[in-house]
Amino acid sequence: MSRYLSKNGKTLNVLLPADALAERVRELAVEIDEYYEGREVVVVIVLKGAFIFAADLVRHIHTPITIDFIRLQSYGDDTYSSRVIQITADLRSSVEDCEVLVVEDIIDTGRCADFLINHLYDLGAADVKFCALLDKPSRREIAIEADWVGFSISDVFIVGYGTDFAQLYRNLPNIYILGKSV
Ligand code: 5GP
Ligand code: MG
Repeated sequence: MSRYLSKNGKTLNVLLPADALAERVRELAVEIDEYYEGREVVVVIVLKGAFIFAADLVRHIHTPITIDFIRLQSYGDDTYSSRVIQITADLRSSVEDCEVLVVEDIIDTGRCADFLINHLYDLGAADVKFCALLDKPSRREIAIEADWVGFSISDVFIVGYGTDFAQLYRNLPNIYILGKSV
């Protein structure tokens, strides 16, 4: 397991190496194609964290898809239950009567996923499915499950492969556990 210090002195330990990510992403694409059976789908990519995962995933999907982006911000104090979720950049296309597949980096408490799914149905989506690269089931505050999950992980804070800490580390090819400063 590679271990090194990041610029701000925090440790980074590889949790999921790039080759394992690539293999699982290909499997997810096969499962998604099998489910949609060639029907057209709107893929909604949640910025910023899902951008690399989604870019890899959609290149293995054969289902006819259109792509749109949505950006959420979750703010408030550290108690997740008092967090407020806001859309900071909404979809540009209509999802009315469409089958929609949300592509997200992580389901943690489930609040963002719940918010997004409700939002898409409010916009008139006929069906909303959810694909998350990572799932932290032990952190869940809202009873919600993704339709497709890449990896189920424990309660650790991860960065890399699109995900950040203070906007850093999104470009790293592996997924790392971010440790304390030393
Ligand atoms: P939820 O609403 O499920 O609590 O939060 C989901 C969002 O929190 C994810 O889309 C992601 O932006 C952020 N998040 C949750 N856990 C982590 C983590 O371990 N690392 C990073 N970088 N973001 C996380
Ligand atoms: Mg996110």
